[in-house]
Amino acid sequence: MNGLRMKKTLTVSLTMAVAAALMAQQHPKTIDDKALRDAGKTEATAREWITYGGNYAETRFSPLKQIDTSNVSRLGLVWSVETDSPAGGRPEATPLMSNGVIYTSLAWDVIVAVDARTGKMKWRWDPEIPRQHISQICCGPVNKGVALYKGKVYAGLLDGTVVALDQETGKVKWRIKDTFNDDTILTAAIRIVKGKVIVGSSGAEQAIRGYFSAYDAETGKRLWRFYTVPGDPSKPFEQPELAMAAKTWHGEWWKMGGGGTVWDSMTYDPALDLLYIGVGNGGPWYQQLRSPGGGDNLFLACILAVKPDTGKLVWYFQETPGDTWDFTSTQPMILADLTIDGKPRKVILHAPKNGFFYVLDRVTGEFIHGNKFVKRMTWASGLDAKGRPIENAGARYKKGPTIVSPGPQGAANWQAMSFSPITKLAYLPGQEISYLWNPVDATTWTYRAGGLNTGVVGFNGPFGRGGGPPDPNRNKAAYTLSPHEPAGAAKEPQANGGFLVAWDPAANKERWRVSDAGGIGGGGTVTTAGNLVFHGSTAYNAETGKKLWEVNLGGTYCNPITYELDGKQYVAILARGNPNNRLFVFALDGKAPIPPVSR
Ligand code: CA
Repeated sequence: MNGLRMKKTLTVSLTMAVAAALMAQQHPKTIDDKALRDAGKTEATAREWITYGGNYAETRFSPLKQIDTSNVSRLGLVWSVETDSPAGGRPEATPLMSNGVIYTSLAWDVIVAVDARTGKMKWRWDPEIPRQHISQICCGPVNKGVALYKGKVYAGLLDGTVVALDQETGKVKWRIKDTFNDDTILTAAIRIVKGKVIVGSSGAEQAIRGYFSAYDAETGKRLWRFYTVPGDPSKPFEQPELAMAAKTWHGEWWKMGGGGTVWDSMTYDPALDLLYIGVGNGGPWYQQLRSPGGGDNLFLACILAVKPDTGKLVWYFQETPGDTWDFTSTQPMILADLTIDGKPRKVILHAPKNGFFYVLDRVTGEFIHGNKFVKRMTWASGLDAKGRPIENAGARYKKGPTIVSPGPQGAANWQAMSFSPITKLAYLPGQEISYLWNPVDATTWTYRAGGLNTGVVGFNGPFGRGGGPPDPNRNKAAYTLSPHEPAGAAKEPQANGGFLVAWDPAANKERWRVSDAGGIGGGGTVTTAGNLVFHGSTAYNAETGKKLWEVNLGGTYCNPITYELDGKQYVAILARGNPNNRLFVFALDGKAPIPPVSR
């Protein structure tokens, strides 16, 4: 090769490289199946945060380590932006970051794309959800987050529709109706598996029938649906598994619906090709109304393993048989590979509302071990060899008002735990919480379409206050302030609020615990190769639990994320509430002042 020709080749190559770079800017790379499978596995694929839990296993672990235990004290605000959602809601979303843009949902399903370098709004889409849709539901006009796939942004909405927006413009590409009644809403973050949009239902406090569905990501065509509760047994069951499930119910549960919504947790193992789903509580809460005489009430409070191509059930594991305490199993689950008793195991880590930390074999659904992660637990005394809770006598509050721990807000809720493959610890935000269960009179209670149907008289919890018109049953039941407690409850230590616990899932016990760590509203976690755990707007040493950094952003913290842009690692979090939702972005030596909380 002579000099001239070499120079020319070099010029051509350079030109091509510049063109490729420009193309990448003009046509940002889209997220495909390979990107989702590889998400968060290496430092390179962890530069973006492209799916709800950071990766399919939803570990919320980042291999990024520019921010570490030695320098996290220098973390400062780079920018923050008021996210301009309508009044009356709080944020609950995990944002995503791809191609230098942060995508997130806000209260009332407003979806925004924000330039990650500047905080400038790129687009904003407001579905203008009719306010009456949520006037009576339990938990506010919330949304857990969006999904990104092949140039589209997906979300399930409070009006029961699923929408696909153009990632660049925020324009609607398709929008379909998922729900079959007005009491069912969609608040869960969509997951994308093998070109399918996986959608979970919400609204079990209104006693609806729960399910989850799969749609074609390109067209919005429904591919399959899995009902978590059997329908009227005099009619054909929609899925073969429901015939078996119906044997675990009594009475005429199908006339209301039974509950079993799927409002948060989903993970996927590509090697096993299994999609794991966390199922919610019974509706009504009080089992005597839902299934008089008891029964396990499958598939309430279960983890389900299904084939994503068909929705066919492979195995199930029920954590709270015959739920009567709003003990959902929708809390975030994590897929991990551990060595337990000298053997490598593919496991699911799960810490649902009921207060037990479960380790399951995710190939078979077999219970490996479990242990309580709260100090005060009065509904059960432990788990048997198969993982079934050993209930304490009286915990089902059938004899009248009974104080039970944990309460319906749960020992853990939607605030996400994370798992570090370095420390082999799970970082779980939770709370010690009790509740006074005061059941309605089952002989006079009536179901009300369009209202809360818990079957429990409100007293000291947020659900008791509720929204919308008062439950007429509330006034019929006699109050007593000398409640029962389940057998053995007197020996339990008193509750002490929120905590962050580092759980060793191989050893089935806690390694460290921070008390007074926020609890409800304290936010979820992310853990990093920098040996850090971020919980809300606090950072701890992942190994020891020593607090290394803290700022006050004004409360109601969501799940933080971390990513790298232009060679710099960032931590982003949605925080605050009604109406001042705000997206905060931190990096080392950030100098922006934290805006005061407006009142
Ligand atoms: Ca619930």
